Amino acid sequence: MTRGPAASADSPATLAQRSRLSPRADDALPSISIVAPAYNEQEVIVEFHRRVSENLRAIGAPYELVLVNDGSSDQTLALMHALQADDPQVMVVDLSRNFGKEIALSAGLDHCSGEVVVVLDADLQDPPELIPEMLEGWREGYDVIYGVRSDREGESWLKKTTAQLFYRLIGSVSRVEIPRDTGDFRLMTRRVVRELSRLREEHRFMKGLFAWVGFPSRPLIYRRSPRLAGVTKWNYWKLWNLALEGITSFTIAPLKIASYLGISVAFLSLLYAAFVIWKTLMYGDPVRGYPSLLVAVLFLGGVQLIAVGVLGEYIGRIFNEVKGRPLYLVNRILPSHLHTTMAAAARDSS
Ligand code: UDP
Ligand code: MG
Repeated sequence: MTRGPAASADSPATLAQRSRLSPRADDALPSISIVAPAYNEQEVIVEFHRRVSENLRAIGAPYELVLVNDGSSDQTLALMHALQADDPQVMVVDLSRNFGKEIALSAGLDHCSGEVVVVLDADLQDPPELIPEMLEGWREGYDVIYGVRSDREGESWLKKTTAQLFYRLIGSVSRVEIPRDTGDFRLMTRRVVRELSRLREEHRFMKGLFAWVGFPSRPLIYRRSPRLAGVTKWNYWKLWNLALEGITSFTIAPLKIASYLGISVAFLSLLYAAFVIWKTLMYGDPVRGYPSLLVAVLFLGGVQLIAVGVLGEYIGRIFNEVKGRPLYLVNRILPSHLHTTMAAAARDSS
């Protein structure tokens, strides 16, 4: 699937990928949906709309801007309504409460109607200026053009290092290859979006789901700018939980590690028991060995608790999935022009 950005034009990998592509006409222009989840983005949403519209008008294709309000508690929704009233290209999907970015994004993907879909963060960290370049990739025949951050301006050393560690960890344990330094910023064709929206799992690790659907994909290197205004909604606790989500929804390696750890510890304890028996037979048994006993008990107790905790993480997720609740609830939808025309066309053809 995805190859490193460094692959040269005629490397076997690229050749293999070339043959999977079905190129489109040089001047082809698809209808474009921009999907942006927003949670408390009152400082940036208007500027976001301005910059995105400017870029899309320059492209000249029919487009819509799907703004998902993820239960904001500030003026975000009011501003979205104002934008929608003035601009027929804007669509507002107002969720019934805050569901978190991953689900808000899925809600946007469910409601957009363009032939290609571009996912952007509402804080303008993903430059809309790159959309024409992504369309180039689309013309070459790719289904997914995903943004890869060349550097993370305005992010702390700790965040960069932990992100690095996370990609390394998930890369080594997961069965699907999840591209590094890749966020949600990407262009996808309709068929990719259709397949994505069939994945209804409650625990959504979008980076993983994007990678799971596959299809011919190509990276696009870009500089991720600092957020325009406002504050990031992620703290380290949330990031840790995202990492857990990523690992537990894409690999069962921790379950295996727990069993192997159990087996090795049990085996070592057996050896140790044999040694103790031998020692007692040879030298008798004066009352000693209390510290080693305590160490063994504590260590085993710890290992068991970790293993139970790992099991718990998975069982908790099974519990959440079997309830089969809808992913999100929508309070209200204000449609865009593109949405209305596509819906009418679909009604006429059926
Ligand atoms: N976001 C959201 N729901 C949330 C948290 C964030 O829809 O519960 C949106 C947010 O408005 C922004 C995007 O997700 O458009 C990325 O969030 P943020 O900028 O806080 O994350 P970062 O860029 O720091 O990873
Ligand atoms: Mg951001």
